[in-house]
Amino acid sequence: MTTPKKVVLLGATGSIGSSTLRVLRAHSDRLQLVGVAAQSRHNELAAICREFDVSHAVLQDEKAYLRALQAGHFPATTQLSSGTEALTELATLAEADIVLVAVVGVAGLRPTLAAIEAGKDIALANKELLVLGGAHVIKAAKRKGVRLLPTDSEHNAIFQCLQGYPSEQVDKLILTASGGQFRDTPEKELAVVTPEMATKHPNWSMGPKITVDSATMANKGLELIEAHWLFGLEPDHLEVVIHTQSLVHSFVQFIDGSILAQVSPPDMTFAIQHCLLFPERAPSVTPSIDFHKAFSLDFSPPEYAKYPCLQLAYNALRIGDAAPAIFNAANEVAVERFLAKEISYLDIPKLIEYSLTQIVSPLSPSLDQLFQIDTETRDVAQAHNP
Ligand code: NAD
Ligand code: MG
Repeated sequence: MTTPKKVVLLGATGSIGSSTLRVLRAHSDRLQLVGVAAQSRHNELAAICREFDVSHAVLQDEKAYLRALQAGHFPATTQLSSGTEALTELATLAEADIVLVAVVGVAGLRPTLAAIEAGKDIALANKELLVLGGAHVIKAAKRKGVRLLPTDSEHNAIFQCLQGYPSEQVDKLILTASGGQFRDTPEKELAVVTPEMATKHPNWSMGPKITVDSATMANKGLELIEAHWLFGLEPDHLEVVIHTQSLVHSFVQFIDGSILAQVSPPDMTFAIQHCLLFPERAPSVTPSIDFHKAFSLDFSPPEYAKYPCLQLAYNALRIGDAAPAIFNAANEVAVERFLAKEISYLDIPKLIEYSLTQIVSPLSPSLDQLFQIDTETRDVAQAHNP
């Protein structure tokens, strides 16, 4: 029997985190959870540590950490710590083989770079960190020879389709998009969309921020940028197609016109399991598609007028340097402000566009410059009333 792969899970209490726990439960003979991190939900994190007998845990939020110490509900065998430094230490844990990065936002960037430097394989669910620091992450991963396994479903699909083919044979990557919850809503009705309406997705069950991003297709925009970094293709070779059933997770078109796709139900456990067990395969935790029942697949080009965030993401990718980072930070603030009912749904792209025109991007920005631009953009997007 082979020894189980040792897994660190950053973002254990979130949507990706809980799908990951389902995979770990089903494959406890192959995968062992050795480290977990969460922002503040200490009760949930303690329960995970008890169930999986986890040796190291981090609560990023200091207050939550103090409450957890008071409550005494973590097992005595779990070493609990708090803070940014602790998150980086967890990501570089000596015994870990692979780090699954499922925290939200750019907070995941430094721990991921540290994990790469420590020679860990990375399963990457977090897309924002690649949008901000893609150049740095890809360079470090190549230099250290670590695997960067894409966990976002579209990128995982592309990664699976690319196995065995040299990059010169690839012409295009075609990312599928559900079109979000308002794909059939007339454009003029989008002005009255509320946060409650925007946080319900027709096919996927996800965190609130990414669900709003699916509606605006800012999510697909972030994924185009993510695909650029992961697979090295330029914007003219990256396309988006609306596919309402979310069964085909993306396509690769080769130079001879042949197209390969990866197909599975809209459930993140497929991509997560693929990454954690790679290059092995094992039975899935949820049933796959049943061809004994009839179903159809639809594809249509996106209406860019309805999804201005998608066009803005293409523009940001073409501009390059820090423009994707500005797009990402402005979008994050815009979504937060929309969820707090400070701005309307249609203000989200306006705030992004405004931020892209206000911030000056240096050429080939360093990591520190990127974080600085991230902060500057947030200030601009917070202060502006579109
Ligand atoms: P979520 O909000 O449900 O969960 C986020 C998790 O990260 C929580 O456990 C939270 O406690 C933790 N966290 C947040 N900030 C942290 C910090 N600074 N330090 C430590 N822990 C922190 O989010 P999610 O939907 O699971 O998404 C996670 C990431 O995966 C995002 O980047 C998202 O874009 C990406 N993603 C999600 C899905 C999905 O189906 N949910 C699909 C593809 C990609
Ligand atoms: Mg995705």
